[in-house]
Amino acid sequence: MRAEIVSVGTELLLGQIVNTNAQFLSRGLAELGIDVYYQTVVGDNMDRLIETIKLARTRADLLVFTGGLGPTMDDLTRDAVAAYLGRGMHIHEPTMRKISDMFAGRGAAMIESNRKQAMLVEGATPLRNSTGLAVGNALSAEGTHYLLMPGPPREMKPMFEEDASAWLKGLIGAADTLHSVMLRFAGIGESALEDLLIDLVREQTDPTLAPYAKEGEVAVRVSTKASSAEEASRKMESTLAEIRRRTDRFLYAEEDIALETAVVRLLLARHATLALAESCTGGMAAEMVTSVPGSSEAFLGGVVSYTNAVKQGLLGVPAALLEGDGAPGAVSAETAAAMAEGARAALDADFGVSVTGVAGPAASEGKPVGLVYVGLAERGKPARTEKLQLSGDREGIRLRASKRALYRLWLALTGRE
Ligand code: ATP
Ligand code: MG
Repeated sequence: MRAEIVSVGTELLLGQIVNTNAQFLSRGLAELGIDVYYQTVVGDNMDRLIETIKLARTRADLLVFTGGLGPTMDDLTRDAVAAYLGRGMHIHEPTMRKISDMFAGRGAAMIESNRKQAMLVEGATPLRNSTGLAVGNALSAEGTHYLLMPGPPREMKPMFEEDASAWLKGLIGAADTLHSVMLRFAGIGESALEDLLIDLVREQTDPTLAPYAKEGEVAVRVSTKASSAEEASRKMESTLAEIRRRTDRFLYAEEDIALETAVVRLLLARHATLALAESCTGGMAAEMVTSVPGSSEAFLGGVVSYTNAVKQGLLGVPAALLEGDGAPGAVSAETAAAMAEGARAALDADFGVSVTGVAGPAASEGKPVGLVYVGLAERGKPARTEKLQLSGDREGIRLRASKRALYRLWLALTGRE
C-alpha cells in the first residue's frame, strides 16, 4: 500500500510551526509496512484541499491527514473530504456527549461550533481521541482509504497508535506487517560500519538494512515483512548471523538501547562497580551512566578532575606526570592510566574509567584539538589506555570521547579486549 501524508495548516506554510506530525507518521507507517511516497503540506483553504485530494489520489491508496479537525472556521479537512466524495456528515453521539459534558463541567453553555468536532463523514469509522475532543475519521471510498486526525501532536499520536493503527492493520492484513530488529553499534563510525556490511547493504532486497547515525553511535535497522514474529525471525536469521559475525567487536545490542544502558546491565549482571575520572568530558560520561535507571547499584561515583591540582589531590596522579620538563602532561596515556586507577582505588570500585583530552576549540599544552586518552583500570590488573584522535567541534569531541570510554568498558566486560 502506498500512502501520502497530508499535513493541513497555514501555520505550517508560514513556517510558524514545524511539521513534526509528518515525521511521526512517516515512521509509524513504515513500521506498519506501508510505503510513504509523498508528504504534502496544504493551507487551510477549501479549494486547495480538494485539489490536494485529487492529486494525492492519483499516486496513493491511503491519504493520511492531520490538522483541521477543530471547531473553528479554518478547520476544513472533514468538510473537504466530504465535499470531494459528495458525502454528508453526521454526529458521532459519544463524542457529542463528551463535548457537552465538558461544557457542563465548566458550567458554560456549549458553543455551537464545537459540534463540528463530533462530525463523521458518512461511512467513516470513528477514531477515539483520548486526549482531546475532535473525533478522528477513517474511511474507504472508491478504492482510496482516508485517515483524518487532529493537528495537535498530543492528540494525533495516541489516536494513531491506538485506533488508526488497528484500522490500518485490518486493511493490510497481517501478511504485510513489517517486523524489524534494531542493531546498535559502538566503537565504529557510520562509514566504517557500512564498509563492513557494504555487500549486504547493496544486495539487500529482503530483509532490508537501513543504517542510522545516533548520538555518537550507529544503528542498523533490519526489517522484513512477514505474517508473524516467528516467520520474521526465520527470514532475518541468516542476515543477522552474518552481521554478528562481521561486527562482533562493535555490536552491543540487538534492541534499541544506548551504549550506557548495555554497559550498566553488564555491570549489574556481574555485580561489578564503576568509578569515573573525567577531565575534558566534564562529567558527561557520568551523566550518561546515571541516565540509566538502576545504575545506582553499579555506579559508585566520579571525579571531574578538570585541573591538575584535582588530578593530583583527589586521584593521586603523580606530579611528575603532570608538570615539569619532559613530563607527559595532563593529556597523556600515563595520566589517563593514573586517573583511572586513582578513581578506582579511591572509590574501591571494580572498574575505573578515565577520559583526558583536548576538546578545543584551541590546542592545549601543545597538544592538538581532538587528542583524547581513555583509561581503564580493573581490580587486580594493570591499567590500559587508548589514544584517540577525534574530529568535530567541542561538543562532538566530548560526546565521542564519553562514548568511547564506555565502549572500552563494554569491551572489558564482554571479554572482547
Ligand atoms: P484544534 O482543535 O487545536 O484546532 P486541529 O485538528 O484543527 O486542532 P490545527 O488547527 O490544524 O488542528 O492545528 C492545531 C495545532 O496543532 C497547531 O497550532 C499546532 O500547534 C499543532 N499542529 C498542527 N499540525 C501540526 C503538524 N503537522 N506538526 C506539528 N504540530 C502540528
Ligand atoms: Mg484548528
